[in-house]
Amino acid sequence: MTNSYITTTIPYVNARPHLGFALELVQADVLARYRRSRGEQVRLQAGTDDNSLKNVLAAQAAGIGVQEFVDASATAFTGLAGPLNLVVDDVIRTSSDPRHRAGVERLWRACAASGDLYRRHYEGLYCVGCEQFYPAAELADGRCPDHGTVPDLVAEENWFFRLSRYAAPLRRLIADGTIRVEPAERRNEVLALIDGGLADFSVSRSTERARGWGIPVPGDPGQVIYVWWDALGNYLTALDYAGDGENLARWWTGASRRVHLLGKGVLRFHAVYWPAILLSAGEAVPTDIVVHGYLTENGRKISKSAGATVDPYELVGAYGTDAVRWWLLREVPRGADADFTVGRLAGRANDELANGLGNLVNRVIALIHRYHGGHGPAATASAPDAAALDGAVENAHVLIAGALDDYDFRRATEAVWRIAVEANRYVNRARPWELATAGRHAELAGVLSALLRACQAAGTHLAPFLPDAAARITRQCSPDGAGLLPSPAPLLPRIAARS
Ligand SMILES: [Zn+2]
Repeated sequence: MTNSYITTTIPYVNARPHLGFALELVQADVLARYRRSRGEQVRLQAGTDDNSLKNVLAAQAAGIGVQEFVDASATAFTGLAGPLNLVVDDVIRTSSDPRHRAGVERLWRACAASGDLYRRHYEGLYCVGCEQFYPAAELADGRCPDHGTVPDLVAEENWFFRLSRYAAPLRRLIADGTIRVEPAERRNEVLALIDGGLADFSVSRSTERARGWGIPVPGDPGQVIYVWWDALGNYLTALDYAGDGENLARWWTGASRRVHLLGKGVLRFHAVYWPAILLSAGEAVPTDIVVHGYLTENGRKISKSAGATVDPYELVGAYGTDAVRWWLLREVPRGADADFTVGRLAGRANDELANGLGNLVNRVIALIHRYHGGHGPAATASAPDAAALDGAVENAHVLIAGALDDYDFRRATEAVWRIAVEANRYVNRARPWELATAGRHAELAGVLSALLRACQAAGTHLAPFLPDAAARITRQCSPDGAGLLPSPAPLLPRIAARS
């Protein structure tokens, strides 16, 4: 039995979620739904990173306690499951979930037992926005390349992780595909990082600098564990790593695939730091590291730190779950950046969902009611000239499987869209109304049968991508006990783009 553990990153909760995070959630949900539909066992894991210093600073700015702040803010992230229609199996919150702290401590002790943790004095330039130290060479005019802020000079005694020790094994695992990093540009980026030399990195900070927030270093209460160590650990701690129980054996050690989805900005943490920590701790490494790009809005970067401009809640409220999911899946190229505008979202939804797919199903069901008494014609009737349509229907299965194996959501949805394109063409070519006028009943039944099969296939194949729309299409195309199809009703409304 194939089983997959699929994770999203756990976001800092210092601001409202933006559309870029919705992209990652929807991609993860599609993979999970698709694999479940093929009978695989899947666990989709999400969570929130509560222990960041950024959260502490945001709470102070808001004038409330840190726990109170993260509790309230986390809801905005976990609450996206409703409007985006996600099936998430488990959510872990790093500040309050009892599984987490105990698991992070175990991970620390495991690396310490391997001799990979040591104390030394350290001075460096730290960006709180990124929660990382920057070598001077990576700064732009002395400022964080991501935030444009001047990093803090930090000088203190820290714990370090012996990353340098894992450069060679890590390189081998990535080069031979044991750890598959997608797309290939990102894999090459990681290999170049490793080839540039991996320095040991700081994995703790003084409790004072952490404002007393976070998980203390086991046996060294003056230090708090680096928030990235803590956050990456969630992928294990959510499986009861501390208790070494059944979930860990089933979903990590024994899983066929351990898949992390993430944005390109946190590649180094997931493809270098995290597998090295796992090697040190004697645990299995991820099998798939799947990297998506960033979204811009009208050409501007959207991120929490830049101020959220596209609120996924508002977007779903205005245009509906189907339209938002469809844009994210249909328009964002594999692993690359994409620019969001409401006009593009509305264009996709109207051209492909309302006019393309919705109109097709409506038309086919109406034709069956007009010319065949509302009964689905027997599938044995021959459909003249239906090779292109039948091809689109029959190939969809293989095309979607191949595309999702490549984590290419645009190519996968293209296969569903092809069915609608070919079916609409077929209606216009076969002209069932003329067959009816001419009394060519056998051919008419064949045409309607081929079209109904195509609509049913579109509903089935659409399910992992747009579960709501797919369910409506499937209902519309399912005969009742007497073999009668429901009367045609609008399935996918046109939307008006407001700016
Ligand atoms: Zn930064």
